[in-house]
Amino acid sequence: MVTDTYLLFEKERPTPPYIRVTANSLKRFVKEVFVALGVREGDAEVVADVLVTADLMGVSSHGVQRVERYVAGIECGAVNIDPEMRLAVDSGAVGVLDADNGLGHVAALKAMMIAIEKAGQFGAGVILVRRSHHYGIAGYYALKAVERGMIGISMTNSESLVAYIGTVERYLGTNPIAFAAPRRHPPPLLYDGALSVVPVGKIEVYGKVGKEVPAGWVIGSNGEILQGDARRIHEAIKKREAAILPLGGYLEEFGGHKGSGLALMVDVLCGVLSGAAWGSHVGYTTVKNANVGHTLIALDISKFMELGEFYDRLEHMVSDIKSLRKSPWAENIWIPGEKAWLTMQTRLKIGIPLHLNIAEGLKKIASKVGVKFDVEVVEEHLT
Ligand code: NDP
Repeated sequence: MVTDTYLLFEKERPTPPYIRVTANSLKRFVKEVFVALGVREGDAEVVADVLVTADLMGVSSHGVQRVERYVAGIECGAVNIDPEMRLAVDSGAVGVLDADNGLGHVAALKAMMIAIEKAGQFGAGVILVRRSHHYGIAGYYALKAVERGMIGISMTNSESLVAYIGTVERYLGTNPIAFAAPRRHPPPLLYDGALSVVPVGKIEVYGKVGKEVPAGWVIGSNGEILQGDARRIHEAIKKREAAILPLGGYLEEFGGHKGSGLALMVDVLCGVLSGAAWGSHVGYTTVKNANVGHTLIALDISKFMELGEFYDRLEHMVSDIKSLRKSPWAENIWIPGEKAWLTMQTRLKIGIPLHLNIAEGLKKIASKVGVKFDVEVVEEHLT
């Protein structure tokens, strides 16, 4: 049993019934699943690390509940497990990586490592990726730059799920942007979010754990705002009878044009400029030539100013914000990345919560691909 709850924080409270499992055993299991499917060991390790990091950070929408999706992509041959990823364009600080239909996580990590190398040389490195697949949480890659004292930016387009402002059909992807900057002491600043009101994974998880979708997330094909049963709404989105709303909502009045505009920007970089697909031409993970595109940017702070000076200035900004008058409705004043980091520290200590429906799904995958679901359970919350 967990006794030191006073010190623990989770940004996403688990919904019973659930078990808690250790991050290491979960990562080992996910890696085994992908290796069993023929994915190279190093690549399987990357996918497992991205997915389990999402769960550690409290982003279960993009955690191991997504294993099923990538397994399906590999099984149907849409995801190439033996890709030859190469720089199709390599010009000074910029480049375009052709991912050869491989796993998006592997492609994005490779692209960010190249961007970091270029940033070390030129001050900035910008690598676009084409012919890729879904890459999970955008922030994972931005944080790789932070590990090297750089600023990291990561964006991706995705299959179309979101209504463009003034329309009711799925056209835009949920197109997240992550921005990460190092701080003198952890946690780093990490802003990482979709450009839709919510990512579809959140609605998927709500369905799996029996929660309801509130009004304001999803619009029906007649312009009606849908709410209630998350499974039903997720099905309606899948059947193209509904679309997720852009960040800001469904009208200009609430700023929906801003969410749409930013998602368009991401799509111009990740889709149009990279040579990948854009808008409704981007495929789901089980679609051949899904042609998802990403943008990975690294900025070497030391080429702009002394790293120490940057840290001082950023801390000054953080303390400005922390000393603002708090709203009576807010539990705390947070800097982006703090909740994710605290959740990660907590879950490294007490384990990652897995809803039983999600654990059941993983067990089924395990038996299908012939590996054991031998995660280490540290706690059970069955009621
Ligand atoms: P959230 O709405 O959960 O969070 C967005 C950002 O806001 C986070 O950086 C979060 O920091 C920060 N934040 C949250 N609350 C506060 C607060 N009160 N004060 C200050 N900052 C705050 O993200 P989404 O649900 O939109 O996205 C979840 C994940 O899904 C992301 O990792 C994204 O990359 C991924 N995604 C991936 C897609 C793909 O196609 N690959 C598509 C769509 C999304 P903190 O984490 O510290 O709370």
